[in-house]
Amino acid sequence: MDTPVPSTVNTKDHTVPLLLLAATGAIFFICASAFFVYNTTQHLVASRDWRDHSQEVLSTLQLTSQRLDRIDLSSRLYILEKNEEDISVAQANAIALDAGLVHLVELVKDNAAQVARARELDNCVLGLKQQINEALPQGVSPHNKVFECRDDASRMQESERTLLSQRTEESQKSIYRSLLAGAGFLVVSLAVVIALFAFLVRDARRRRRLDQQVINANSQLEVTVLTLQKRASESTLLTAAREELQLCTRPTQAHEAVVRYTKQLLPSVHAALLMINNSRHMVEIVSESQGETKLLDGFPVDACCGLRSGTLRWRKPGQSEVHCAHFVGASPENYLCIPLAAHGDTLGVLYIECPTVLVGIDVRANLDNLEELAEIASMSIAGLNLRARLEHQSIRDGLTNLYNRHFMEISLDREVRRAARNQTDISILMLDVDHFKKFNDTYGHEAGDCILREVAETFRQSVRAEDIICRYGGEEFVIILPETSQESALERAENIRQRVSELRVRFRSEALREITISVGVATYPQSGTTLEEMLRAADRALYLAKHGGRNQVVIADTPLATV
Ligand code: GH3
Ligand code: MG
Ligand code: MG
Repeated sequence: MDTPVPSTVNTKDHTVPLLLLAATGAIFFICASAFFVYNTTQHLVASRDWRDHSQEVLSTLQLTSQRLDRIDLSSRLYILEKNEEDISVAQANAIALDAGLVHLVELVKDNAAQVARARELDNCVLGLKQQINEALPQGVSPHNKVFECRDDASRMQESERTLLSQRTEESQKSIYRSLLAGAGFLVVSLAVVIALFAFLVRDARRRRRLDQQVINANSQLEVTVLTLQKRASESTLLTAAREELQLCTRPTQAHEAVVRYTKQLLPSVHAALLMINNSRHMVEIVSESQGETKLLDGFPVDACCGLRSGTLRWRKPGQSEVHCAHFVGASPENYLCIPLAAHGDTLGVLYIECPTVLVGIDVRANLDNLEELAEIASMSIAGLNLRARLEHQSIRDGLTNLYNRHFMEISLDREVRRAARNQTDISILMLDVDHFKKFNDTYGHEAGDCILREVAETFRQSVRAEDIICRYGGEEFVIILPETSQESALERAENIRQRVSELRVRFRSEALREITISVGVATYPQSGTTLEEMLRAADRALYLAKHGGRNQVVIADTPLATV
């Protein structure tokens, strides 16, 4: 599974340089704004000072005018009433006027034109003082001088008023400028703060989105890792199954291994392996997992939908309502039949039963693995079946299913050596059907075959499991009796001869005539110590039995010891 890497993760992050740039810009802007506001405020304060200054000059000039008025009034009173007190008042006002002018000159010293006017006024006031002191007592009115001084003061006042109106206007402008600067500073500061905030919010959002993408990518990665781990363990399991099945030497081992590995792959299912038997009509359970199942132990091939269709059959409610007919009672709800086939030959079926719907989902997710396991199992079982068949064919006689001569010679050689090693007896019987040719001639070759099969079956029923029965050739047989003395062998041979003579064989509803056999017995070590010697001795004994009239047992090297 491909994991998409978030495209933004790899792009260069410009956040820090942008933040540094924004912070530097904000600091620069704040300094510049502060400087501008400071200048504006300074200008405002200065213009206000100048306005106050003009007002002070005007009020001083106002006071000067009032004093001039008082001097004029006192002078007129004195001329009318000749009251000395009025002269004193005029003199006092003139002195105050003079002192006031010193202050006025000081006030307007920054303005050369006003200084010149103040000097003129001062000179005028000096002249006025002189007239008050000298001419007034003689009744001369200083009215003209007062008028002259008032005129000087008026000019100064006029000039100062002009200045005052200019300065007031300037002060007003400074106030507007200051207000505008403050408002502008506020607006721009707010804009900068909002821009920075928006920038931080955008950055936080982008980080959150990136974090989410990283979380998503991590969880996808975890899922991918888990999937890969699961696949790796499934692959390991299938490899182990393949190796174990290759190690199996018998089909039964392979049958058990298939069910075991199916359970390892899907622990919650019930698994069973069913093989088509030799008759090719019936299917039988050869291996199954523990637990309860409704599966029939044996059923006809066409009872299984999977075997009928030759393909994997998944029975699920809602998908297919057709059930297989290989169950005891009601069919289970969820099950799977995977036919096993190899080299064009159907071998059987791997049956998977799901106890719950969830287990069914798990099985569906593992269908590929199950099919691969079924394929491995098919090839392995087919190989083992073939091997068993070849082995059987190489050591068995096709007609009687007894061991063949080649196998007999190997076995006899081995048994003779073992007897020599363990110092035990071993006997062999060589048996031949009497006048067998006549059976063929009388009843036909097929009837002869039938007799050979019946005789072979009688031999099988007459010996122990460890005894080895072989078809030596034609209608001649050898039975190896390990750890059997001459007496016991003789007894056994007689028993067999007796049983064969009692055989009543029917072929195609026709009763065949009686069958008899002649038997030669040889025993190790009396009759011989090697395979060849033993066979020769038994053959000689058989020859003697034939010549002795047939239907009898003869012991080797004791030709007279007939029974
Ligand atoms: P004897 O009592 O001396 O043993 O006589 P016999 O007729 O049994 O012996 P003989 O060796 O003359 O004949 C054996 C016959 O067995 C010859 C052969 O056609 C027959 N025979 C050999 N193998 C088979 C076989 O597989 N099937 C059948 N039907 N006949 C076989
Ligand atoms: Mg014969
Ligand atoms: Mg013969």
